[in-house]
Amino acid sequence: MSSISASKVGGIKLLQNFKGVAGVGDSIKFWLDPWACYDPLKDRFPALFRLESDKRCLIADRFDSSISAFSGKWGWSRVPYSEDERREWNSFIELLDSVKLAGTGDRWVWIGGNEKEFSVRAVKSFLRSATDFSNNFVFEWSKWVPKKVNILVWRAQMGRIATLDALSKRNCFNGDERCILCNDGLESADHLFRSCSVASEVWYLISRWCNISPIFAFSLEDLLEVHVFSGLGIKAKIALKGIIMVGWWCIWIARNNRRFSNKTCSASSIVQDIKSLGFLWYSNRSRCRDISWRDWLSFSFL
Ligand SMILES: [Zn+2]
Repeated sequence: MSSISASKVGGIKLLQNFKGVAGVGDSIKFWLDPWACYDPLKDRFPALFRLESDKRCLIADRFDSSISAFSGKWGWSRVPYSEDERREWNSFIELLDSVKLAGTGDRWVWIGGNEKEFSVRAVKSFLRSATDFSNNFVFEWSKWVPKKVNILVWRAQMGRIATLDALSKRNCFNGDERCILCNDGLESADHLFRSCSVASEVWYLISRWCNISPIFAFSLEDLLEVHVFSGLGIKAKIALKGIIMVGWWCIWIARNNRRFSNKTCSASSIVQDIKSLGFLWYSNRSRCRDISWRDWLSFSFL
């Protein structure tokens, strides 16, 4: 309950999205719950609330059940007399004079959105309504590459893979932090997949293979959106998007092989791996399963 009470979006409390509809008034609190207007009466009339002796009283305690209207039954600690109290008193009477109880059970309604019915979705959309997602990069998965590749790319794009800079920040590594592929520049996700000279050559060879203009990326996000601005047809875009991800996968494998097994690799051997792994996955997992190796290599099938 305390976390619900504390939840606020743009200055509006979550609880302000609920309003009591008084039937007989035996379960809604007169001062503390919102029912006669959108705020609880204690917030609308603070000076009068200070004079109330039973602050947790119910609507039924203050209403006359025979006429279902405000009874004027008081629980004041003293009669209101200051200017503030009398001013509040006038609008208090004006507000409550217009209220008639329905005579059925009390209930609560959701007033937080366009939908009248309360739903978890309505609460979610209220809680998210003030969050600005416009600067956030939304990673879109590729359906034809395996989950492990999607996950690696997704994590790498957020800088959450075990590159040397990340390990060193967590005090898990204190050796030479230089990139093992180019021996020039510190190893980070951004370096490994984008600015490294080996990666740059990989992307150049990929652009030649896919017949697009050379790939220039200023961030990892740019790299993941190359297909959008490639000028290719829709099928080729889907293929290219996956190929870039397979590229990240193969660069990561090449880096691990070099670091842990001391196997040498070059940009062209990485591109060979991208082509063969890409063909394996594309021809088994995409909608175009009849693609031939020859067409894949010439990228002219689309
Ligand atoms: Zn490098």
